[in-house]
Amino acid sequence: MKALAKTKSKVGIWMTQAEKPVMGHNDLLIKIRKTAICGTDMHIYNWDDWAKATIPVPMVVGHEYVGEVVDMGQEVRGFTVGDRVSGEGHITCGHCRNCRAGRVHLCRNTVGVGVNREGSFAEYLVIPAFNAFKIPDNISDELASIFDPFGNAVHTALSFDLVGEDVLITGAGPIGIMAAAVAKHVGARHVVITDVNPYRLELAKKMGATRAVDVSKQKLKDVMNELGMTEGFDVGLEMSGVPTAFNDMLNNMNNGGKIAMLGIPPSDMAVDWNQVIFKGLVIKGIYGREMFETWYKMASLIQSGLDISPIITHQFPIDKFQDGFDTMGSGQSGKVILNWD
Ligand code: NAD
Ligand code: ZN
Repeated sequence: MKALAKTKSKVGIWMTQAEKPVMGHNDLLIKIRKTAICGTDMHIYNWDDWAKATIPVPMVVGHEYVGEVVDMGQEVRGFTVGDRVSGEGHITCGHCRNCRAGRVHLCRNTVGVGVNREGSFAEYLVIPAFNAFKIPDNISDELASIFDPFGNAVHTALSFDLVGEDVLITGAGPIGIMAAAVAKHVGARHVVITDVNPYRLELAKKMGATRAVDVSKQKLKDVMNELGMTEGFDVGLEMSGVPTAFNDMLNNMNNGGKIAMLGIPPSDMAVDWNQVIFKGLVIKGIYGREMFETWYKMASLIQSGLDISPIITHQFPIDKFQDGFDTMGSGQSGKVILNWD
């Protein structure tokens, strides 16, 4: 089968012929229709230190996708051939304490699709049926193919009550922008999002942010004054991984504020702990999505009228994958989709 793989230890990604993956008793064989490019795929493409230390070569990468079930292992229940599915990219062990307690998203032995095992940038993908999520008929292939990052946004945004609250989102990457849309949809008052990239700030405004602030040009405090916010933000969603952005967030939280942290800092970062202590802040780390509550919530949010479609700014046929990676790397895009169908 055709597959997009990391075949060399250097910058880039290459189209190859790979073995069709072999299915076990509890697995689904999925024929891929659409895949999306994640920030993680860009780290792998750029072959940074994390990628060098993590990704075995050769390796088929990718983990954001939608496809159709074409075969099932003999133990699989609850799916049929022809089902349209996306899937949770964290494959969990099933035997650690958290897995056995049903807190599967906290499994300590997670294996990543397209990171630690063969991924979805291919004509076919095999995953455990447990990880698959059936896509309701009224949700498009395009949207289904970005359920993985949409799930990061939903899991982070819904970590704390947002109704009537003022929310600060640092980082208007695709995930930050989708989180802004979710926060508005579920009833936050002001949703202020920050970045240093004008293209993405514009997109965030289009998707419902009250204010999109370029922190290289404007002070967050000034925007808060304009909005009549005298006390500070109630909820913070850190979605940049940039240390200065996180410290800006700490400085502008109200006492008793709550912060959910998704962004991954590139290395150790200094934290002004006095802000955390004297403000009585609550900080929650976020990894992935809740299995499978986040997935049901994603479907329901869309079915209740949330429109995240503007985040998909580019689509390319799979043979134009290089254009897709170049577009994603330029920073002048939201989500980029590669079509296999
Ligand atoms: P992204 O890199 O596209 O977005 C990050 C954004 O932060 C960029 O638009 C960048 O311009 C912006 N930024 C840079 N400097 C800034 C500053 N000073 N203030 C505010 N924003 C600034 O990433 P993404 O795909 O949207 O993901 C968001 C973050 O979440 C990344 O750090 C990613 O690694 C991380 N992530 C974590 C998980 C998890 O499970 N914890 C999953 C997916 C992604
Ligand atoms: Zn486990």
